[in-house]
Amino acid sequence: MADASYSDLIRDAQTRLGDFLTPSLRLGVTGLSRAGKTVFITSLIRNLISGGRLPFFAPEAEQRIVRAYLEPQPDDSVPRFDYEAHLRDLIAVPPVWPDSTRRISELRITIEYRSGSLLKRTLGLSKLYLDIVDYPGEWLIDLPLLTQDYRAFSSEALRLAADPSRAAAAKPFLEFLAGTDPAAGEDEQIAITGAKLFTEYLSRMRETGAQSTLAPGRFLLPGDLEGSPLLTFFPMPLASDERLPRASIAAMMTRRFESYKSTVVRPFFNDHFARLDRQIVLVDALSALNRGADALADLERAMTAILQAFRPGTNSWLSLLMGRKIDRVLFAATKADHLPASSHDRLASVLKLIVDDSVTRAEGEGAGVNAMALAAIRATRETTAKQGGELLPCLVGIPMTGERIDGVTFNGKTEAAIFPGDLPADPAAALDAARRATSPLELIRFQPPKLLDVLADGTPAAFPHIRLDRALDFLISDYLT
Ligand code: GDP
Repeated sequence: MADASYSDLIRDAQTRLGDFLTPSLRLGVTGLSRAGKTVFITSLIRNLISGGRLPFFAPEAEQRIVRAYLEPQPDDSVPRFDYEAHLRDLIAVPPVWPDSTRRISELRITIEYRSGSLLKRTLGLSKLYLDIVDYPGEWLIDLPLLTQDYRAFSSEALRLAADPSRAAAAKPFLEFLAGTDPAAGEDEQIAITGAKLFTEYLSRMRETGAQSTLAPGRFLLPGDLEGSPLLTFFPMPLASDERLPRASIAAMMTRRFESYKSTVVRPFFNDHFARLDRQIVLVDALSALNRGADALADLERAMTAILQAFRPGTNSWLSLLMGRKIDRVLFAATKADHLPASSHDRLASVLKLIVDDSVTRAEGEGAGVNAMALAAIRATRETTAKQGGELLPCLVGIPMTGERIDGVTFNGKTEAAIFPGDLPADPAAALDAARRATSPLELIRFQPPKLLDVLADGTPAAFPHIRLDRALDFLISDYLT
């Protein structure tokens, strides 16, 4: 009896010590709008908690994962990632894609595992808190603003607005600017009109597929700030040595720009970004390849802006602001299920080419960086079809309502076999072809897959995926040794 209570005591102490020492890993999931963040997180969680097939996730392959479950997140002030609602959409009959990320959210998933280390087992360490932080990549584009003043921001924003590819979208805003004197007295109506026209220009650009270099990021994804005076400013042409009269419209814009930085950008940086341990950046490289030169140029600019945040080089602005917290970054080209398997590595190579400069530099700084192609949810399966004596790899899935190929419009209900084309083996050739609008790809969007296998609780089994397990392996498996 005495022995039993003694060993109970030890076990209890071990559990408590273990809980106290349980490490937490903050994993940032980011990417531009529609890159696939919501789908990625939902599938990741579902695969972890309901025993999905993850053969290339080492702890799973070694059968050391005991179970994984959701727990209340540690940060009360951050909205919870609405996993249950997104899952409901994806397993509905018929399934639908969930609503996309529009603001920051968080979710904690606890992973219990059998450690291979005697020390960890003795200390009762058999858990990891994985805190997943989902946030729009557009907010990263804002980070460089921290080192800019209003003049520098204005001159950069107006230089972009004057670019011929943006002329039509920017016209109403530029005409308004031409008729507005920066030295005129403060006027809220001018501020509101200017901010509205500036935002309309940004969203027009986004509609054409240009999501990048559209700082300030909250103008397009305001989250809770919709309609706030913090977002009521716009860039104005100012000579570098021009003194701003007090109470002028330009002085008002300068003040608001500074508040935007201190109230919006800096807290995001301090409270969220700077606390991340690992990061996955999702990139919809396929859509850009499919849409051609402007979309690609834009994606490249966006990646350059985003990558600055992960480039802890000696002369980068960020190294001044941050230590070396993020030690692994994974760039992932999403929606690889739109291509046959033979093109998956090629898609990864294209992504590497797009982010190469930054990858090389970050590697030089000792950060672990990797790039791969994945599909968080595989909506297609592969087959072959014979055409002119040649066997072509085809994808079978249910195209979304309204998608068209060769004059056929799909109704969102019927399955179809599609030959999407192959990426060239040389990634530079793939980029070149897309720039010259001669991309060999013909892509359409698919409905989420219907899940046929059912779990013991009656819900459909975890989602099929492509290389989600490899991504997970790179991002977290060293915490589960
Ligand atoms: P977010 O804005 O980054 O949160 O993007 P979402 O996760 O909402 O994804 C945007 C859209 O891309 C979805 O509605 C789907 O149509 C598509 N998508 C995302 N991930 C996948 C995937 O793994 N496979 C397929 N076929 N489509 C995907």
